[in-house]
Amino acid sequence: MSGRRTSGPADTEALAAELAARLEPGDVVLVAGELGAGKTTFVRGASRALGVTDPVVSPTFTIGRRYRGRVPVSHLDLYRIDDPGAEDPGLLDDYLTADAITFVEWPGRLAEPWENVAARVTISHAGGDERLISVEG
Ligand code: ADP
Ligand code: MG
Repeated sequence: MSGRRTSGPADTEALAAELAARLEPGDVVLVAGELGAGKTTFVRGASRALGVTDPVVSPTFTIGRRYRGRVPVSHLDLYRIDDPGAEDPGLLDDYLTADAITFVEWPGRLAEPWENVAARVTISHAGGDERLISVEG
């Protein structure tokens, strides 16, 4: 997969499901794009395809959530991190586990080199409900 145009949230979820089909435990997927681009929508589509039935919404009071699917799914949203140096180095340890597939919104908020990155997704607005989605890796 590389650049694709989607015309609504369901379309973005379907594209995410295609990616999910080739993910394995331990994989990390970085999902970049501005507010409202559709990052959480993408994570929802992938999570559904991985068997998650709980609601998939952006983490609010924590930086991450963990869902039960056919494999454990971790969902991180690092938007609120503004000083990476001030964060506990073990911040993500509960989420980045070898048994889980992890999706990270706002990965650029942390300077740390991400390990086990299976795909880098970038979503941008393309007018109305259209989005351009690139999936690398
Ligand atoms: P983010 O996590 O990037 O801030 P969300 O996924 O929470 O974005 O929100 C995206 C919003 O845009 C949702 O309200 C969704 O319904 C809407 N939307 C409209 N068109 C699309 C599309 N093609 N793909 C994804 N979301 C879309
Ligand atoms: Mg979000």
